[in-house]
Amino acid sequence: MTESIDVAVVGAGQAGLSTSWFLKQADIDHVVLEAGRVAETWRTRRWDSFCLVTPNWSVNLPGGKYAGPDPDGFMILPELVGYIQGWADSFHPPVQENCSVTALDADSDNFVLTTSGGKIRARTVVVASGGYQRAHLPANAEQIPNSVIQLLAEDYTNPSGIPAGAVLNVGSRQTGCQLAEGLHEAGRKVFLACGRAPWGPRRMGGHDLVWWILESGWWDRTPDQLPSPMARLVGNPQNTGRGGGHDLNYRTLQAAGVELVGRYAGAQDGKIHLAADLAQSIEAGDAMTAYYKTWIDALCEKRGLPVPWEMPPPLRVTGRTELDIAQEGISTVIWTSGYRPSYGWVHFPVFDDMGFPVQVDGRSAVPGLYFMGVHFQRKAQSAVLYGVGEDAEIVARHIVDNRR
Ligand SMILES: Cc1cc2nc3c(=O)[nH]c(=O)nc-3n(C[C@H](O)[C@H](O)[C@H](O)COP(=O)(O)OP(=O)(O)OC[C@H]3O[C@@H](n4cnc5c(N)ncnc54)[C@H](O)[C@@H]3O)c2cc1C
Repeated sequence: MTESIDVAVVGAGQAGLSTSWFLKQADIDHVVLEAGRVAETWRTRRWDSFCLVTPNWSVNLPGGKYAGPDPDGFMILPELVGYIQGWADSFHPPVQENCSVTALDADSDNFVLTTSGGKIRARTVVVASGGYQRAHLPANAEQIPNSVIQLLAEDYTNPSGIPAGAVLNVGSRQTGCQLAEGLHEAGRKVFLACGRAPWGPRRMGGHDLVWWILESGWWDRTPDQLPSPMARLVGNPQNTGRGGGHDLNYRTLQAAGVELVGRYAGAQDGKIHLAADLAQSIEAGDAMTAYYKTWIDALCEKRGLPVPWEMPPPLRVTGRTELDIAQEGISTVIWTSGYRPSYGWVHFPVFDDMGFPVQVDGRSAVPGLYFMGVHFQRKAQSAVLYGVGEDAEIVARHIVDNRR
């Protein structure tokens, strides 16, 4: 038997749940189909010592704005999962857990969702299945020999969960830097294969970095303000919320003893090859940071505030271009080289050549088919805990105003 529903939301992470919150306010009949449990990605695809990089005060979910005792702190993983579960419990979204959607098609005038529990017809579908779904591996990743354990960041748990020995961490955005720091602190020799990544001080002029990001309008940037569609892949500034938050970037990691090297190029005959581009990557990251700083400077000028921070002198490091796996004792490679969208089960031609849904304010070209939680969906803040509610309200309002 095929169940029929007005609106089907796919995914019970913050994006799907935020949408559900607004649909409930408008009394719209809907279901939230979730492959696992509420907040499944946070429960199962983060490492043990994960904690938010954004301060608690910036958790801005609809009906669930952070009002706890530690606004300037950074929730650790169990706290965050508990927070999202508690928020969901507060408004009872109609979530069907353990219900995986394997295909989205159309019949004459409805959407048809094929799920692990049978088929569901819906007049409207909101795909909120996560903006960071498919780990992206660099070219030649398959050349790493079998003697070395390979892990994706989402499969890494903690230093004792991997074999003894040195670790090569490939990818140097927030996740890569955080894993490198944790492994180094656990006594591991860590090599960090670095790309071009912006960074920023944790605190400036008495405020957290995220305060400056918000007040300067950096998170209000829209996709059309980016220099190219590829620029959507540039991550948020390297940083950490661990231990109350501190700076974490190439300079701090190098000073601590993590060995910085260039981008991963391949592996052959027991050796890992790295590009001779470390200096350029650091310089490019600094240039991105300096550009972001112009937004801070403009804010200061507008508000008559003192400029809170100056760029440090250049960091000049020449990384090794070859690592002998046996000599260095490298037991493990962790890939933290970013994510790409993955919507293979959505059988509509609504994706660009990078796999991102083509949408305006969450609406695709197919009437009734919406997306939520896409990185840069409307703004830079679209996929984070601060900004997702704003997009959800817009999507839900459009659904309500355009009932099919
Ligand atoms: C490593 C990392 C760290 C981050 N740190 C922060 C941070 O500190 N602060 C911040 O604000 N943001 C952070 N983010 C960004 C963002 O908040 C998270 O990615 C968040 O999980 C996005 O929520 P979402 O609801 O869009 O997607 P998800 O949380 O991934 O939720 C999607 C849900 O859909 C379900 N699903 C997927 N496919 C299907 C299907 N076919 N059928 C049924 N269900 C399906 C999944 O099981 C999942 O529960 C981080 C992201 C990453 C990757």
